[in-house]
Parts: sequence; structure tokens; C-alpha cells
Amino acid sequence: MSQPQLRNLPSVDALLQDHTLRDLAHRYGHAIVVDACRGALDGARASILAGADAPMPALLIDDVRERAERAVRPSLAPVINATGVIIHTNLGRAPLSEDTLAAMRTTAQGYSNLEYDLDAGERGSRHAHAESIITRLTGAEAALVVNNNAAAVMLILAAFARGKHAIVSRGQLVEICGGFRIPEVMQQSGATLIEVGTTNRTYIDDYARAVTDATTLLMRVHSSNFKVIGFTHEATLEELAALAHSRDLLCVDDLGSGALIDTSAYGLAHEPMPQESLAAGADLVSFSGDKLLGGPQAGIIVGKKSAVDALKKYPLTRALRVDKVTLAGVQATLLHYLKNEAAKKIPVWSMIAATPEELNARAQKWVERLRAAKLDAAVIDAASTVGGGSLPGETLPTRALALTVASPDEFAARLRQNVPAIVVRIEEGRVVFDPRTVLAVEEDALLAGIERVAKMRGFDMRSSI
Ligand SMILES: *Cc1c(COP(=O)(O)O)cnc(C)c1O
Repeated sequence: MSQPQLRNLPSVDALLQDHTLRDLAHRYGHAIVVDACRGALDGARASILAGADAPMPALLIDDVRERAERAVRPSLAPVINATGVIIHTNLGRAPLSEDTLAAMRTTAQGYSNLEYDLDAGERGSRHAHAESIITRLTGAEAALVVNNNAAAVMLILAAFARGKHAIVSRGQLVEICGGFRIPEVMQQSGATLIEVGTTNRTYIDDYARAVTDATTLLMRVHSSNFKVIGFTHEATLEELAALAHSRDLLCVDDLGSGALIDTSAYGLAHEPMPQESLAAGADLVSFSGDKLLGGPQAGIIVGKKSAVDALKKYPLTRALRVDKVTLAGVQATLLHYLKNEAAKKIPVWSMIAATPEELNARAQKWVERLRAAKLDAAVIDAASTVGGGSLPGETLPTRALALTVASPDEFAARLRQNVPAIVVRIEEGRVVFDPRTVLAVEEDALLAGIERVAKMRGFDMRSSI
């Protein structure tokens, strides 16, 4: 029964005679369009075998064009984050400040003094650029920037505990988003992990008893993305540092987020800060560049000059180093802190600082525009989160746009297919858009995307207005 229908399908060569496809082949190259024709014909064949009729030629051509256009579109593309999760690891973590973007662009565009000392007219060090700002901000003696915090932890362990013992509390053997697991990183670095204490309670004496001649460092790992409550105890960093120094060991603190501003000023719990870890006596402290710091992906190590200098010379550092563009971005982001303008200029912090009144005004404006387009929209109370493995369980009160539609999952799926893609939350059967994580420049594209999806054929809007 389906045979005659199959025979109605054109050949690839016949399709290529179509003038729009010939134009496409001219623009994108023959191979791309031939692949798209094959894909479209395969798709048509499959639907015929499933009982459908052969598609009209115009539909087939449209399908080919869509496939060819998709093939030349970058797969990594901007997404509008309406989830209210500020540091969303799957959506690329921190959006960057204007100054950071400008610095990255100019550095990428031409030459720079990356490893050139302009005063002396001779070779300089790439490590010098961000170091003076980081040390000024944190009070550290020295600093080093590497690819990410996972690389920072790995590097510290390899350089100081390869073939030796590193002691960590059982309550801190964490897994961070994306499969970064402390025991596995230890293994990769060649260090032997010595676990002490229990999941909920570890005392400084547990560490002291585990120290042997093979021990070179004591490490604290910030639990970042989870909270242990109830009958719990961890040794303080001061205790760890004192023990380490009395036995000639290094005290290392993996902070994760590394907030340079006190989160408790924004009604959140206090996220530990690098300057506090250093003041407590840690020799090396590491944190991410793209979590609460609000910059590009990087790992920042601060601490004692002797330890950081040893890291700079360690061969693995070369494999983990950042490029000039990242370095320019880290430096520009850090300068916002130095100039005391971080909360205003760094998107992560202005999102944290946004008040419910400001958010309400934005959500209200969205609702008015969508109601004018006959959509069932309302402003609701909701909660944003910081994300990025910081401040688990903590929320920021927000005002969000809630859209009532017949099938929220289907609506959300179509929003993800929009260009630019829009990612949302579904709450109590409604599609929820949190203005906190939507940049002002994205608002028009967001609303246009919602209207476009709502108007799609075959989409049942349970509109009540
Ligand atoms: C996030 C995190 C890491 C990994 O940092 P990346 O920058 O993602 O590599 C390591 N340790 C802790 C405690 C973290 O929170």
C-alpha cells in the first residue's frame, strides 16, 4: 500500500533542481544541501512507512531548507534564562559585565602585553596581570589563575601531595555539579586520600591522629551544594591551619564559589569568603571565576607566596593555564570589586541585589504586554535561587510572570525551540518567568518569543480573556 507513495518521493537530484535549494547550495555549499535533502527524504520515507501520505513538494523543500539552515547554525547559542537560578551551570554560569566583555574583545582582537614587560621591553609574565588585583582584594601574598576551580584543586594536590597523603573529612567528600568528585580528583592527582571522621561529625583530633610522615596537606572542601543539619561538627579552618603549621603541613581550602562580597548583606546566608579563609590561616585557597565572582570560567588560587610560586613553576600549570581572553575578562571583573562597583556592574550581583519592587515592576510590564496579546498572564510571588553550588536551600523572594496555558510542558518545549531559546520553570501547572535572571536587553526577545509560541498553529491556548 505504501509502495506507490514511496515512489512519489523525488530523488535528491530532482530536489536539487529547485531554485531555492540551488540558491542555498550556492550560499552554504553543495554538500550541506545534499545532506539536508537526504535527511528530509529519509524523514518523509519514515512517515510514509508509518502510514502518512507523501509530503507536498513545497513542504519537502521547506524541510530541506530548515535542515540546511540548522546545519550551518552554531549549536552553542544564547539562551534566555527565565528560571530565576542566577548561576545556572547548564546555562553557562555567570553572564559577564559590559567592561569584561569589552576587555575580552579588545584583547582577542589584536596583540597585547600578555607576556611582555612594556617598561623593560623584554619578556614578562602572564601571571602578573590579575595577580596584583587579586592580592589587593583578598589580602593574599600571591595568586595564580588557571582553567577552572577543578584544575586549581587538581594542581594543588598534584604539586604538593603526589605520592603522599592528603587528609579530608568524610563530611566533605563532595560531588559538585558536573561530576567533580573530591575522591576522584585526589586519585587523578596521584595523592592518597586519607578520610577522617564521619559523615556528620569530624573533630580536629581526627585529623591529628591521621597525620603521619607521609602526610603533606590538610584540606577543607566547602560543601557548596548541600547542607548537613542536626547533630553535626566540623573542625574550623583555624584549627586545621594551626594543626597543619605545627606539623609543617599545608592547609588548603577549596572554597568553591569564593564570594568577594558578603552575601548576608542581601538577606542570604553568609557564603564563606577567600579573605576570611586566608585570615583563618589557610596557606592556599581556591575558588571559581564564574560562580559568585561573576566572571569568565577560571580557577583562582590565592595564598602564601612560597606555595603559589611553587605552583607557578610546576609543569602541570602550563597545561592548565588560561588564555589571554580569559585573563582579560578575569582582570576586568576583578577591577569592578576594586572600584567598589561590583554590585552595580557585575550581572550576578545586580541580579542578587534586585529588589522585589523592581522585579514586580518588570513582571507587571510583561503581563500588560501579554494581556494585550490576549494571553492569560499574571504576576505571582516566587523564589529565585543563587545556584552554582552556592547557598543550598537559600532563596530570594521575587515577583514573576505566570502564564496559564493548556499544556505547560508542551509550551515550555516550544519556548526551548525558539531562537533565542527560552528556558523556564513550571510551577503549579503554570509557565513561570522570573525577571531576576532575564537581562534588560533580552526582554523584547523574551516577550516576542512567548507571543510567537502562543500563536503557533495547533497550539491550544486556554485563553480566558
Ligand atoms: C564548583 C566547585 C568546584 C569546581 O569548580 P569549577 O570552577 O566548576 O571547576 C570545586 N570545588 C567546590 C567546593 C566547588 O563548589
